[in-house]
Amino acid sequence: MGYKLYREVKVWAPDTLTKGEKLAALVLADDANDVSRLTYHGVHDPEIMRQAMVPDDRAMRRVLAKLQKEKVVEHAGGGHNGRVSKYRFLHLAPSGWAAPGDASKAGENNPPTGSVEDHQADGFDVPDVGKQGENNPPTDEADAKNHPPTGGVGGSFSTRRRVKTTRPTPPYTSTSSSSPRDAGDQPSKTKTKKTSSIRDRIIDATGATPEEAQALIDQIRPEVKHSLSGLITSLIENEDMHERLRKLKAARAPRPRPARAQTKCTRHYLALPCDACASDIKTRAFGDVTKLLHDHGPDKRWDLAQNEALAQHLGESA
Ligand SMILES: [Zn+2]
Repeated sequence: MGYKLYREVKVWAPDTLTKGEKLAALVLADDANDVSRLTYHGVHDPEIMRQAMVPDDRAMRRVLAKLQKEKVVEHAGGGHNGRVSKYRFLHLAPSGWAAPGDASKAGENNPPTGSVEDHQADGFDVPDVGKQGENNPPTDEADAKNHPPTGGVGGSFSTRRRVKTTRPTPPYTSTSSSSPRDAGDQPSKTKTKKTSSIRDRIIDATGATPEEAQALIDQIRPEVKHSLSGLITSLIENEDMHERLRKLKAARAPRPRPARAQTKCTRHYLALPCDACASDIKTRAFGDVTKLLHDHGPDKRWDLAQNEALAQHLGESA
């Protein structure tokens, strides 16, 4: 990925490019190798064209013609007999410039923002711009000497464009860590406070323990559509909260397992809790399970005794 090249194009592409041409140059730079400065995918690659918002091959050829004219890229082979057409990025930055965030002197030589004028309307038409040279990003030669390239890729920025300078330091010199991050505390404190008052309301309304109230909140939270507080209020008002607490307590109650408890269902020969009986209850086939519970009693058939749907059915039919 051509991160440094991308930054170089972003900062130093000639102002004579249209927005569309500059976007295409940025996309191609991002796709190019930082060291060889060669584009990787074909310039007519559909994804490259899509990212660059170039509508078709013809428009891309016009963009490339302009980029070559403005000495942004040069053709580096390919494009015939099915070979991928390669382009090489020329050196746009003055000697000594380093991509921001890359070299030790990051930021010192950056040109300012706001200097890119809209020479043309958006689009891919290539107007005849004969101002080559006038708009070159200038450089301060003295400054460049004081800050030579740091070797590696940085050193590859040549002095192909020797120009003078006045571009001041840009605003994005460093990734400042001074921005306050402690603001993140505030919402969570508020949230905790809010939740605890909701918990108090549940405790007041139902007599739940604080721990049970918290468990109910955790259970209810995924169901919230608008506000947790609003849902809690309506659950308390229509007594659903009491029902939920009752279920919570039932689910948490230790299962009675007397020593003589059956280990298998006498009808299905499955270990208790019997899955077959449970599935009968789910399909509301209460006949067999009611008989089993009646014959063996709630101690032996604890799984049936604890089944809420069955208990409800028996309650209704009693
Ligand atoms: Zn069974």
